[in-house]
Amino acid sequence: MRIPKNHPRAESLRVRELIIEGMHQDIVAEAGLIAHGRGEAFDYLIGEKTPSFAIQQQTAAVAMILLAKKAIISVNGNIASLCSEELVKLADILSVNLEVNLFYRREERSAIVAKKLQEAGAKNILGKDPEFYTTIEELSHSRRVVDKRGIFSADVILVPLEDGDRTMALRKMGKRVITIDLNPLSRTSIWSNITIVNNVIRAIPEMVSIAEKLRNKSKEDLLEIVENFDNHKSLQESLLYISQRLNNLAEGELEKPKVE
Ligand code: ATP
Ligand code: MG
Repeated sequence: MRIPKNHPRAESLRVRELIIEGMHQDIVAEAGLIAHGRGEAFDYLIGEKTPSFAIQQQTAAVAMILLAKKAIISVNGNIASLCSEELVKLADILSVNLEVNLFYRREERSAIVAKKLQEAGAKNILGKDPEFYTTIEELSHSRRVVDKRGIFSADVILVPLEDGDRTMALRKMGKRVITIDLNPLSRTSIWSNITIVNNVIRAIPEMVSIAEKLRNKSKEDLLEIVENFDNHKSLQESLLYISQRLNNLAEGELEKPKVE
């Protein structure tokens, strides 16, 4: 679909087209469309731009990854469709691998998602070679397969757009989980060590810039950032931001239609 440049919601439509295109290429699962719609709704609530609390969340996330013994970035269909190139940049600058890990897993789909990452410049992609597969016992059948060299043995996992059950299972395995989820009320948000309440489209490139600044910091400086971060407080701050924003709109700031 061609989106007129002067359309008031051109950016949102452009992103939506990426997801639809991803579905036609078998990168995005059908349920991925529904998840995206839920994300769009929450993005409206935060004003479709990065609030300052999200910058703090993104900074803590980058610091935690830089401090990890072994960090990994888990990639699903939605994130691969929306921002493969930025994701590859983030993995490069943080010196971590990308692992294809799909909720609706099929070998052909994993291969297609891996190819998408490869085209975006990724070199070492995990989660696509059966000889390295192992399982997470806490999860049901097809969702339990992970890569021995990646998620299974990592201490820190960045899982943009994860499901609540899997976040809980990873926490129970002793992993530190960082997620990006526009819904501060989801189980994923509540169960993660660090939740970034922002659109992945903005969060990933912003994390690349943050990583450029933080990667030369000392271990002590990075530790201080991580230790001062409290996910529960940060989620409460996100909710307060949304509720105050809605209050301001309700008390007068809501745009009025101007019909000539
Ligand atoms: P949970 O399983 O964590 O309780 P859920 O079942 O409501 O939550 P899922 O479908 O499992 O949600 O996960 C999708 C999540 O991703 C949703 O919370 C949605 O708000 C979020 N999301 C979708 N698109 C984006 C996006 N572009 N950026 C950030 N978050 C997004
Ligand atoms: Mg879910």
